[in-house]
Amino acid sequence: MAIGRIRTPFAEKFGIPRQAGLAPAAIGEVVLTPPFDRDEMVKGLTKFSHIWLIFVFDQAISEGWRPQVRPPRLGGQEKVGVFASRSPHRPNHLGMSVVRLLGLSRQSGGLVLHVAGIDLLDGTPLLDIKPYLPAADSVAEAVDNFLAAPPPPLAVTVHPQVERFCRQYQEESGRALRQLLVECLACDPRPASQRDEREFGMRLWDVNIRFRVRDGQAEAFTCEKLSDCSVYQSGS
Ligand code: SAM
Repeated sequence: MAIGRIRTPFAEKFGIPRQAGLAPAAIGEVVLTPPFDRDEMVKGLTKFSHIWLIFVFDQAISEGWRPQVRPPRLGGQEKVGVFASRSPHRPNHLGMSVVRLLGLSRQSGGLVLHVAGIDLLDGTPLLDIKPYLPAADSVAEAVDNFLAAPPPPLAVTVHPQVERFCRQYQEESGRALRQLLVECLACDPRPASQRDEREFGMRLWDVNIRFRVRDGQAEAFTCEKLSDCSVYQSGS
């Protein structure tokens, strides 16, 4: 049973950072819906800087689950067991993300938790929230023997047309589009099988951004507002 929905800038899977926290400018709103939107249910939550979101990978359900997957973070070559991965294609399609809690507000749709560093599609159903407890959840001696450290971020160049577009977009909407697109491109959104110089399109809010990666550098070269799409508005 969902207790709410997670609203994010990501209307499509392509381009979403592959883990929470990789793009701090990826802000979202966790909208708790009745009867789970009572103030008493979040009493004390703002004492925590970070929270766990437990949710359903709803847009993977129709694709089923797989016993083995090829995690993009391992270059898409290596097959690992689904339980050794964070893949959406798992038996119960459950996911968990640690995000920064920025604050709470009451809006017409319910009680809203403002968060940053989100890695989820807009509209993802939320099942639970728990505080992140650094003393218990941060394990100093933990190791990841697949990948000791994440790949270094790509350098990102933003063409002048995109710079101008982002400035105007931020003036009109208040959204930090440039920062978000730089953080998302730095994570190299290209599928592991397409790590070449072809052009890609990525959507953030109601904006389509075209980019390519050449010589280890991502270039955002055009931005275009999509007219015929619904996009999440803060407060709606
Ligand atoms: N931090 C979470 C975890 O470990 O459970 C999610 C990690 S998962 C690898 C992140 C990816 O899931 C995103 O890059 C996106 O492609 C995909 N995704 C995000 N929201 C989704 C949704 N509602 N349904 C299906 N796939 C989703």
